[in-house]
Amino acid sequence: MTRPARLALAALALAALLPAGGRGQPGSAGAETPAAVSWTLVVERPGGARARLEFLVAARTPTDAERAVAAALRALPVAPVPPGASAAWRPWGWAWSDDELPVPVAYNPAGAPPVVGPQAVIAGLQAWSSVEGSRFAFRYAGITDRTASILDAGPDGENVISWVHLPCHRGCVLGLTSKEEVHEVDILLNSNPNALTELGLDTVLDWRTIILHELGHMAGLDHSCPAPWGPCTPDEVAAVMYFQYTGINRVLAPDDRAGIRALYPAQPPPVAARRLALEPGWNLLVAPPVPPAELAARLPCLAVAYAFDGAAWLRWAPELPAPLRTLARFPPEAPVWLLASGPCAAEFPAP
Ligand SMILES: [Zn+2]
Repeated sequence: MTRPARLALAALALAALLPAGGRGQPGSAGAETPAAVSWTLVVERPGGARARLEFLVAARTPTDAERAVAAALRALPVAPVPPGASAAWRPWGWAWSDDELPVPVAYNPAGAPPVVGPQAVIAGLQAWSSVEGSRFAFRYAGITDRTASILDAGPDGENVISWVHLPCHRGCVLGLTSKEEVHEVDILLNSNPNALTELGLDTVLDWRTIILHELGHMAGLDHSCPAPWGPCTPDEVAAVMYFQYTGINRVLAPDDRAGIRALYPAQPPPVAARRLALEPGWNLLVAPPVPPAELAARLPCLAVAYAFDGAAWLRWAPELPAPLRTLARFPPEAPVWLLASGPCAAEFPAP
């Protein structure tokens, strides 16, 4: 692999736990009104591999949010690259190929809050794996010692959910998803127990909701609505993939399911086979959509076929010399006469 590993990161941050009114225009993010802010950064690893970071942070002011991102960045082994370097690639551009499904996801519980066990991960994997009309599926790969690759020099070949302590200061990154060009995606969750108290909140964060959202990024979905300021439809706001945490949301919304179906539609059902049986003598049947020679090859009892094209009778028979085989193809829906020397039958694709 000569191209540098590229990586995209999306982060979900605390927003709607904050008082109502948190969703507003950037200008409304004054001292009284907390708001989510979002922007993209390109960073470089010590080894040179670049990454794209998409942050969503809740904070009382844009300045606080910027500080929260800067604090989170200092805890990661990456350095910001001047703007303008990100134009060549898109953050969530690739989807898993069929031979990568189901996508294995391992969990590293080190540092997790006591309330978060593997079941929180498994529930999220199952939700995204059971969207009707989609072939997408995750597979729980068990407990791992590995950590999310954004903490390392590069991808390690395993899709991992792990925890790390990221600093919070009036704003807090809760989780981020990194997407490598080599088809590896990792999720990093913030184990900082002060994530809520730093924001002056005494409520309990629902990690299953956070994990479900990040797994949607891992599956290949972007946010349901352009972050950060929309406009967003009610359906987009209700989605798990909405860019703000809006409280417990453990069930995929129609918008989420539509997204996964669009990315990974269910395989078309196998073409229905139709059994065609000839009785000895004349049979009046709609012929399958194959050339007469192929029909005869698969129905050895076929002696001759006649079709009326509206003006004349056309015929085909194995015995006939080519110039006399006037029937080149069967009419798609009209019945034709087939003379059989005995009984025979075969399966053909349905028309
Ligand atoms: Zn997100």
